Amino acid sequence: MAIEEKERIPRNFITDIIDADLKEGRTDHVATRFPPEPNGYLHIGHAKSICLNFGLARDYHGTCNLRFDDTNPVKEDMEYIKSIERDVRWLGFEWQGPIRHSSDYFDRLYGYALELIDQGLAYVDELSPDEIREYRGTLKEPGRNSPYRDRSVAENRDLFEKMRAGGFAEGKACLRAKIDMASPFICMRDPVIYRVRFAEHALTGNKWCIYPMYDFTHCISDAIEGITHSICTLEFQDNRRLYDWVLEHISIKARPHQYEMSRLNLEYSLTSKRKLNLLVEKGIVDGWDDPRLTTISGLRRRGYTPASIREFCRRIGVTKQENTVEMSALESCVREDLNANAPRAMAVLHPLKVVIDNFGQEGVKESEFCVPNHPDHPELGSRVITISKEIYIDEADFREDANKQYKRLKLGSEVRLRHSYIIKAVSCEKDAQGKVVLVHAEAVPNSAGTNVENHKPKGVIHFVNAADCARVQVNLFSYLFTEPNPGAAEDFLAVVNPESKQVIADAVVEKSLAQAQPGQSFQFEREGYFCVDSKNFEPGKPQFNLTVALRETKKTQAN
Ligand code: ATP
Ligand code: MG
Repeated sequence: MAIEEKERIPRNFITDIIDADLKEGRTDHVATRFPPEPNGYLHIGHAKSICLNFGLARDYHGTCNLRFDDTNPVKEDMEYIKSIERDVRWLGFEWQGPIRHSSDYFDRLYGYALELIDQGLAYVDELSPDEIREYRGTLKEPGRNSPYRDRSVAENRDLFEKMRAGGFAEGKACLRAKIDMASPFICMRDPVIYRVRFAEHALTGNKWCIYPMYDFTHCISDAIEGITHSICTLEFQDNRRLYDWVLEHISIKARPHQYEMSRLNLEYSLTSKRKLNLLVEKGIVDGWDDPRLTTISGLRRRGYTPASIREFCRRIGVTKQENTVEMSALESCVREDLNANAPRAMAVLHPLKVVIDNFGQEGVKESEFCVPNHPDHPELGSRVITISKEIYIDEADFREDANKQYKRLKLGSEVRLRHSYIIKAVSCEKDAQGKVVLVHAEAVPNSAGTNVENHKPKGVIHFVNAADCARVQVNLFSYLFTEPNPGAAEDFLAVVNPESKQVIADAVVEKSLAQAQPGQSFQFEREGYFCVDSKNFEPGKPQFNLTVALRETKKTQAN
């Protein structure tokens, strides 16, 4: 069944808020934003945020901005910026107007900081970062005022200017909002709003050596862009007070509102750029787009389609309850999509040669069959498959002897070769270790693609013609971690699954597949869904990555 992508985001608490805001006239339009920090590639958690923010804009005929939250020049990189733009577009969304950056607003942010200073609501602190932490107190104990807290406006102006001019080393001074050191909300205990960083910024170069902090920057950037509904994850719930406080105390008129939803946590995967980065840096995975990662680029390389990821985000919904979603929920979305849309093909992953000894005799001659690429979609066309005296079947599809449950090839009984003849295994040859290396069979005359009286094979197996097949590499994957919640492990590197990738160097596929192009997906009949790897592509020698098995089983991912 095809995934019916319903037009609208299913109702959730945020659409309820928007509906009420529109009805009661608090706003007459919806403006959202997706604000990634360009310090890594996007992952499936970001997809949830993207589908929601861009989806709301689509559903309410509003706008969604893409804004790089680039306030930390130390960790940010052009490679990440480019990958993020690509991933958002690949998911099927387009942002409103130009790409924005928090750094576009550095001048204005500086001006708003001065406004706070002038009202006696911000001061330059010279406590060290460690002292600031110590003075901050704990959840049980209130914090203490910094000895620099009561500086005059003039002095604060001078010192802030000195910070901007490079007169303080990193960690020697910062600007703090003057709020309440006894607040039950730690984020309100005189939060740092500017710090000194002598680092070249990807866009502003060396213009600044002070950089605004997230809590100060985000709300003002939202206000500058006229965002109406600013959606973030639950960790920022307390910070909403600071978000509102800043906007309350500066001269900007716009009043965006922050709403928090639960993060997406997905079993057997990491949704933290910092941790993903470590896997990449340590070479545990083959880059940010390793098919075992649930980064957007990894999922793409694995064979996930944009529609399947959007459908997944639709199904998980938007709530305030923290939970962890099973990997099978993501897998079934891509399986349904590929089942409906991927052309079928035959591939033998563990080839065993079968010689059809009566080939060429009466009724066992035809060697080409035109078969449909998809059972339900004639528009996906057809292809020619061939058969001749020697074919390959999968090792698992032959046994010398087996009980009645075994509906594949065994000595003395018949099986249907998919789209082709009924064959009967006659004898087999073994190597020194006793492993079957060759099967002799006979085809039932005139049985190619049709029933023959008195022959009722119990099963159908797939095959590939030895004479003109292509030899390809197939990569099978299983979960990258041995624990369902690797993020919670004391050391997530210790729960990496050493067998998460299995390379089959000499699988055989029907000849048409040699021409498959990077990113093309197929259902290998009776095996699973596979996608041509886009990273190691050589024309004529595609590598195939397992996307997902045909059915959900315990061993879904591999073998
Ligand atoms: P990370 O820990 O991976 O760096 P982050 O929240 O710091 O995550 P950002 O680049 O700041 O990453 O995130 C951009 C947007 O995506 C934010 O609005 C954030 O709330 C949202 N987001 C990030 N991770 C998730 C997640 N797991 N589920 C839902 N939304 C997320
Ligand atoms: Mg962040």
